[in-house]
Amino acid sequence: MSLRPSVRIWRNFIAIYLIALGVFANVAHAQLPTLGDTSEMTSSTERKLGERIARELFRDPDYIDDPLLAEYVQSLWQPLLVAARARGELTAELDERFAWQVLLGKDRSINAFALPGGWLGLHLGLISVTASRDELASVLAHELSHVTQRHISRLITQEKRQTPWVVAAMILGALAASKSPDAANAVVAGSQALAVQNQLNFSRDMEREADRIGYGVLTQAGFEPQGFVTMFEKLQQAARLNDNGAFPYLRTHPMTTERMADMQSRQQLAGRAPAASPGMEHALMSARALVLSNPGVDVLRAQVREADTASGQPRARQAASLYAAALASAKLRNMEAAKQLAARLVPMAEGDAKAARLARLLAAEVALMGGDPARAMALAGPLGNSRPDVLFAAQAELQSARAPAAVQRLQTWVALHPRDATAWQQLSSAYTAQGQVLRAIRAGAEAQVAWLDYAAAMDRFKAAQELVRKGGAGNDHIEASIIDTRARQVELLLREQALER
Ligand SMILES: [Zn+2]
Repeated sequence: MSLRPSVRIWRNFIAIYLIALGVFANVAHAQLPTLGDTSEMTSSTERKLGERIARELFRDPDYIDDPLLAEYVQSLWQPLLVAARARGELTAELDERFAWQVLLGKDRSINAFALPGGWLGLHLGLISVTASRDELASVLAHELSHVTQRHISRLITQEKRQTPWVVAAMILGALAASKSPDAANAVVAGSQALAVQNQLNFSRDMEREADRIGYGVLTQAGFEPQGFVTMFEKLQQAARLNDNGAFPYLRTHPMTTERMADMQSRQQLAGRAPAASPGMEHALMSARALVLSNPGVDVLRAQVREADTASGQPRARQAASLYAAALASAKLRNMEAAKQLAARLVPMAEGDAKAARLARLLAAEVALMGGDPARAMALAGPLGNSRPDVLFAAQAELQSARAPAAVQRLQTWVALHPRDATAWQQLSSAYTAQGQVLRAIRAGAEAQVAWLDYAAAMDRFKAAQELVRKGGAGNDHIEASIIDTRARQVELLLREQALER
């Protein structure tokens, strides 16, 4: 068995980190292999660098693939990409070569960050403090613009002596140091880690540029420009109140009064009215982010109590309180309370189609958590082809011993979305429930490929081949030949990865 992911990250990280420190001390490092010429970082080198970092983030215990939050973030992210293309900020070359994926982290810290190669990190803590979709979109637009303006590659190019491998370690180190301090992080969150982080900070000019370009992209995508201003105000207020590391976004994105003034004058020029009251959909998703960010038992209990004190509040606020209270109760395993709170939410969300769907899915989720898949399916109402619907239905089918239905649903899904690791994992469970061991192992391997962990995928492909050799796989010749083909392909990827070192 391999080590637990968290242990593996830290082991790799500390080893690489020590090398990074050595480089900073200008220790000769002629033995370090280089990846191409470091004088100018090409988009394909940046892409590889980004994948190296993304692979570690996928393994991080704080990485979360919540289908509903992921879908919601996509509903903001995709229009921003479309607008960036239309404005010529996102070139065809970068569009094709970079990942343009947002990874969610369970962290409570208010943080979002752009990584090399078009990967973005977004902490649930940040989603939970945004008051509107426009605020959340403004953060995404700003980070997107750091990538399209090639700020990251410029920063890395400044680090002329570093190989991309070392730069990847530096970025991972900065991310680790930016997490709210706890025992594990204290090991590396010392002054040296912060020194490394400072080397990777964007300059004020870059920040201004990301604000300006991001603002244009945000408004072109149809969001209220007011979101940029209120988000700024919120972060600046947080900066005044807090200096305890809970707002790492502020460290990498210094809030200067000058940037604030820029934003406000842009807003005045745009002449738009202040944003309308926040939509219920955003309020519910923000509540979900809060509960899923592992806030601890005390906060969960406070969420439950808040549902009773929210009656004088605007409707969206009340609905959000009920949503958080229901999900928090379920997390605290108080299923009866969770059921009742979710049932109270459903009529309140009627009239807003998106919020009504979220309310139904919450009631269904609570029923599923309580071990009642039949009731869950009834409460969910008619399910469509969206990702949360498909993954939810498959899970309910699995729990009600209808593995063949789950298999069929998930097979169709992964055929269309072969990089959906969560769907592959669910499919693996469904195959296991059917006793199809070989297919279960292969689906597990595909999940690892989607997480860019080719070594872990190869382990599974080899285990599957071994099973075939020993005759323990029945006569599943088709699957056996798929496994051989995929093993060869992934072996190549793995070799490519090894050469990069
Ligand atoms: Zn920035």
